[in-house]
Amino acid sequence: MSRPRPLVLVLTAGVLALTGCTTAGPTQPTAEASTAAAAAGTEHVEFTYAGAEGPEHWGELADDFATCADGTAQSPIDLTDATAIQVPDLALDYGTAGVVLTDNGHTVQADEEPGAAALTVDGHVYELAQFHLHEPAEHTVDGTTYDAELHLVHKDADGAVAVVGVLLTVGAENEALAPYFDALPTQVGSTAEVPALDLAAVLPTDRSSYRYSGSLTTPPCTEGVSWFVLATPVEVSADQLAAFRSVIEPNNRPVQDGHGRDLVLDATD
Ligand SMILES: [Zn+2]
Repeated sequence: MSRPRPLVLVLTAGVLALTGCTTAGPTQPTAEASTAAAAAGTEHVEFTYAGAEGPEHWGELADDFATCADGTAQSPIDLTDATAIQVPDLALDYGTAGVVLTDNGHTVQADEEPGAAALTVDGHVYELAQFHLHEPAEHTVDGTTYDAELHLVHKDADGAVAVVGVLLTVGAENEALAPYFDALPTQVGSTAEVPALDLAAVLPTDRSSYRYSGSLTTPPCTEGVSWFVLATPVEVSADQLAAFRSVIEPNNRPVQDGHGRDLVLDATD
């Protein structure tokens, strides 16, 4: 029973592309890839976190996904052997805002009201576009995998992407994120409105962060993303993560080769 594998792959990718577009539609983009995909005019191609369309095969699923396999600045990575530097803290100007949750099949994305929150780093301003959850976490710290990871995706006026990662560890209920977990849509493509979510309260008090240049962690794995993974994790309850797991299957891309990239840890006073 030996079929030519390339043929099988091509057929599978074709069918999935149609299925994905039918169920999710071009208006239901994936995680942080949405704007990059739209800008590049990429076709909606389905991907998964296991099996034939899993992370090891993302680069083969579409021409536009080649960077997932060929890139040399991919994310996530293991955060280890960071060089300590003295730089100003991240300026995260977050407040309370309404969000719209969408189950895009890969995560539940919370789209922000424009102007609701911003990140300023080195005098450069990025507006918060959306946040979403990965469970388990994607970045590891000295080889340790955390229970989940929040990605707060920001964009500047030119479309450059900066992501703030918040590591989550199971413990007390996360009250700031309760509106998110309590309103999770249960079907791919469905949405839910959250009237108010206190974003500032989601962040740990200590804003010390691991900083490096990486990529989107979902296809098309576009590089040039500025990563700021906060070194201090915050707690989330087992029940909250179970609610997410009941909707979204494990959605963490494995860590990628560092390829000698610089990794720094900003030291706070
Ligand atoms: Zn993400």
